[in-house]
Amino acid sequence: MVGIVIVSHSKQLALGVRELAKQMVQGDFPIAVAAGIEDSDNPLGTDPIQVYEAIASVFSDDGVLVLMDLGSALMSAEMALEFLPEAQREHVYLCEAPLVEGAIAAVVAAAAGRNIQQVIAEARGALTVKATQLGVDSPHLSVVSSDRPNNTEYPTQELRLTVSNRLGLHARPAALFVATAARFQSQIKVRNLTKNTAVVGGDSINQVAILGVRQGHELEITATGDDADQALAALQALFATNFGEDDSTFEPAQTVNHEVISATPGELLGIAASPGVAIAPVVHYQPSAITITEYHVDDPEAEWQRLQAAIHTACQEIQAVFSQASIQIGDAEAAIFDAHLLVLKDPVLLEAAYQRILEHHLNAEAAWQAVVDEVATSYRTLEDSYLQERVDDVVDVGQRVLRLLVGNAPASLHLLEPAILVATDLAPSDAIGLDPTMVLGICTTVGSATSHSAIIARTLGIPAVLGVGGEVLHLEDGTLMALDGETGKAWVEPEPDILDVLAAKREAWQTAQREAKAKAHQPAVTRDGQQINVFANVGSINDVQVAIASGAEGVGLLRTEFLYLGRTIAPTEDEQFAVYQAIAQVLNHRPLIIRTLDVGGDKPLPYLNIGFTEANPFLGWRGIRFCLDHPEFFKTQLRAILRASAEHNLKIMLPMIATVMEVRAAKIILGEVQDELRQAEIIFDENLQVGIMVEVPSAVAIADQLAAEVDFFSIGTNDLTQYVMAGDRTNLRVATLVDALHPAVLRMIRQTVQAAHTAGIWVGLCGELAAHPLAAPILLGLGLDELSVNPQSIPILKQAIARLSVTEAEAIATLALQQDSANHVRALLQQSTVP
Ligand code: PEP
Ligand code: MG
Repeated sequence: MVGIVIVSHSKQLALGVRELAKQMVQGDFPIAVAAGIEDSDNPLGTDPIQVYEAIASVFSDDGVLVLMDLGSALMSAEMALEFLPEAQREHVYLCEAPLVEGAIAAVVAAAAGRNIQQVIAEARGALTVKATQLGVDSPHLSVVSSDRPNNTEYPTQELRLTVSNRLGLHARPAALFVATAARFQSQIKVRNLTKNTAVVGGDSINQVAILGVRQGHELEITATGDDADQALAALQALFATNFGEDDSTFEPAQTVNHEVISATPGELLGIAASPGVAIAPVVHYQPSAITITEYHVDDPEAEWQRLQAAIHTACQEIQAVFSQASIQIGDAEAAIFDAHLLVLKDPVLLEAAYQRILEHHLNAEAAWQAVVDEVATSYRTLEDSYLQERVDDVVDVGQRVLRLLVGNAPASLHLLEPAILVATDLAPSDAIGLDPTMVLGICTTVGSATSHSAIIARTLGIPAVLGVGGEVLHLEDGTLMALDGETGKAWVEPEPDILDVLAAKREAWQTAQREAKAKAHQPAVTRDGQQINVFANVGSINDVQVAIASGAEGVGLLRTEFLYLGRTIAPTEDEQFAVYQAIAQVLNHRPLIIRTLDVGGDKPLPYLNIGFTEANPFLGWRGIRFCLDHPEFFKTQLRAILRASAEHNLKIMLPMIATVMEVRAAKIILGEVQDELRQAEIIFDENLQVGIMVEVPSAVAIADQLAAEVDFFSIGTNDLTQYVMAGDRTNLRVATLVDALHPAVLRMIRQTVQAAHTAGIWVGLCGELAAHPLAAPILLGLGLDELSVNPQSIPILKQAIARLSVTEAEAIATLALQQDSANHVRALLQQSTVP
């Protein structure tokens, strides 16, 4: 039977834990304590010899699990291991589980005859029950060791893999690697053979990233443990699927000039990071400086708790930024904020901070700053420029935690007039909040074309020149500046002749854009004359303007969550009415499909006071389910939409429909609102169409019944894919599974389209699949009537449709449905793409 040792500074505490644990099992049980020291004046402490003796007293080849309280208990336990003969040491495991809960869970598992690995797993998971009951995410952060136990009883399995991703293991694949490795009990280690690096832990995002893995590099991955085979197979699958990346879509839409061209007088040279010309007054952006003082703390444990609380809040903030980002720039780009979360959960970083606080009695700010600086420096010293740039993410996350520790408010970026933003640097969390109608350009003294901020700037269409000389930081706010994001040049108070040239270039650039977009204003018609409606997915008024300029023929999905997010109370009927009207006016009689509120899942609203934390938010109280349970709240939105429908071409779309009853219940509430409006003699569109999102598998299964209830369907492949494949769309660990090109998802689309057409209603698709550059033939071939995509993707989608014929598309779709994996579908599409 596995033996347990309790190491504590306090004898009373250790004996109490032992007593409690023994209550859980019957009969004698091998549990020993090593606690306190022989000093009557100061009995609190730990002694390595005592720990050694305790281990020896319960030792068997089944193994011994050692649980420790804190600080020197860990060191004493580590020293005790040194005293053991090597053959015994291999059977002894120091475990980071919480002392009380861990001891009880471990004793129960050991008494049940579980092996040492299972006992360790039980001890580690001991806080889960408590966390679930209290409705908190996971209060436990692994701090003592990032390593899995030394599973020396298992042979080490080894695998060599070559990385084929275009950018190697950059932030997202590295995060995916770590998340996958962490799923297994086995100890995963990895090293870059091509660069002959040291071996690092596969569960540390920073260590994996620091391996500097590029395309073509060979990695040696080892796994030691009882699930080593499965772990290596899962990692191999990641490599085989290119970490779910589609390299063909990686390049930014426009070519970016990375060359620095020599300056003529008056010019500032920088890096061309996002194309376009901007001429506007300067506004400085300076996040309030965070001043850190280093001091000695008397209660390091409390200090560690303080750091953990700040990290926990930072995780919640990043989660909120992620929600906003997925609306603004799409799930794929927003995933960079997932990498931020992994930095915060990196066991190596946390362990380093823990050691500084506990061993050196350092305050949390100083400890955190020091470890973040260390990681940042390791990134900077890499030869690889792409990985060097990941330092931005580490620094951004580091600053967020520091700001929370010192209690600084986040810096505000709200501009009153259009301007060029000048800053030392722009963190991705700052960039994501920018309004392209107010921020006409970005000029920073630090940064590069492949930083996440630059990627976000390009996605938002904001011209940017990064890495110019520090003199721009001394300019007065309001100074006129010009920049050219294509050549990477900037000018302060440009001479009239330069201004003329730039204004002409801006004009030419805008004309070129207009011309490119002009084609996008033509209907999307296939070579054999079939027209497909191409609409836009929008989440703000700004998006609608961009959508129209990009050739949208209407809005296929207005995500109304943007009205509700980032506030402390729900928007009123009048506020909503004003926004819906404003959007409809921009659309100028083009159709506007307003989706009723779809909160919950990845978009929680704090002020809705749901009152509990859901174990599975995506399977929980979201979308229509929440609205039907809050009819007054729902009616406010419906009234606002109906009022706006009086003079505009509006349709209502209900999200997350799973049953016919939900549609009927929603229509009853809608009917009540219509009656109330009629009684109040308020005009609305009596023929307003009502449709549903088809994004829950049950809705596909009963699509024929649902089609009889509504005027249209719009297939939400983002959710449909996660539910069909049973993979959380925000969980990196299952990211490769959540692939809308999987034949399982494509067959669901076919079934929905057939049901809609049989019932005589139209059917669109508004998930991100519609914007996938390769997906157009399948969607056309499956018979969709409308596609709704993010505004930036419209011209390309229209072009793809114009190159196809329905006959070809149908043939491709038929073949795609017969494939046995998303990758085979992708390969088929790549072969059949018309050049
Ligand atoms: C979808 O699920 O495909 C969809 C378009 O809606 P959202 O991404 O807002 O959930
Ligand atoms: Mg959805």
